[in-house]
Amino acid sequence: MSDFLALAQTGVQQLSPYVPGKPVDELARELNIDPALIVKLASNENPLGPSPKVLEAIRDALAELTRYPDGNGFDLKTLLAERCGVQAEQITLGNGSNDILELVGRAYLAPGLNAVFSEHAFAIYPIVTQAVGAGARVIPARDYGHDLPAMLAAIDEKTRIVFVANPNNPTGTWFDAQVLADFLRDVPKHVLVVLDEAYIEYAQGGDLPDGLEFLAAHSNLLVSRTFSKAYGLAALRVGYAVSSPVIADVLNRVRQPFNVNSLALAAACAALNDSEYLANSRELNALGMQQLEDGFRMLGLSWIPSKGNFIAVDVGTAGLPVYQALLREGVIVRPITNYGLPNHLRVTIGLPTENERFLAALGKVLGRG
Ligand code: PMP
Repeated sequence: MSDFLALAQTGVQQLSPYVPGKPVDELARELNIDPALIVKLASNENPLGPSPKVLEAIRDALAELTRYPDGNGFDLKTLLAERCGVQAEQITLGNGSNDILELVGRAYLAPGLNAVFSEHAFAIYPIVTQAVGAGARVIPARDYGHDLPAMLAAIDEKTRIVFVANPNNPTGTWFDAQVLADFLRDVPKHVLVVLDEAYIEYAQGGDLPDGLEFLAAHSNLLVSRTFSKAYGLAALRVGYAVSSPVIADVLNRVRQPFNVNSLALAAACAALNDSEYLANSRELNALGMQQLEDGFRMLGLSWIPSKGNFIAVDVGTAGLPVYQALLREGVIVRPITNYGLPNHLRVTIGLPTENERFLAALGKVLGRG
């Protein structure tokens, strides 16, 4: 019998699959309790629930369910181009922004080439890199965040991609416009900078640069964004990249013809036009962040300051048993040992009542309540 693990390409053989947050229904089955009693703050999802305008757009789109979606995503690209101040030819749509990260990996990486990214960076960067047999240069973090000058220094002639997340998941760390400008100025022109802005809509008060503003001057920059977070469409899987038209053309060659489904296309257009929902998302997040920070302070815990819709708290002991004890309290968060942060748990900002439930459970579990 053939060994089909050994026959897989080397990078794939050594790959560990992405570990998602534990689903509510799974824990409900394990604890034998009503799913409604469970609080899930594990996947950086939007706690607001779907926008009524989005639901209406999806209902309208249902009538066309027997047809393939518009493979070019004309309406969404047109709307995004207008909002982003770019040409539609600069936009690539993805099945989530995850798809975008896969597309860049497939198009630009191969055995013998390498990608540069940071320690504690989003887990998909190493997966994408390894899946195509390319090398990974993992640069030690600085104060949990990306050390862009060190990442720059790690680039060589075999580097094709640098992945940077601003803010980063799971740390929530960020860098400012000057740091980004210096980095982009010095990155060799053969290297594609993938600036992952999955959480950019949560950044308030101008602390984070808008990656789109750097596109005109840097043809080797790609900015990726998503509708999964502040726009509340995680289940539908829709994200996008803005880049030079040449890069967009390359990605278009490797993308599945209908990678974004028609319900997602309709929903994303409606979400872009629902400024009230976005404003509510941001406001709820800012309040919830404050609530969690206050709670951590009361519990005597430290945390990594975050600009995302989540926060990594140092529980002062191994995170995994604390995570498991929280599960028994009906609260799902995310252990991040696999990100090199064994004493931290990542918590998504929820509704005020959910945050309260989590803080009370954490206090109880740690014996500090
Ligand atoms: N980038 C970062 C930094 C993320 O945290 C995530 C989601 N966890 C993604 C990209 C991918 O999200 P999606 O595919 O839902 O757009």
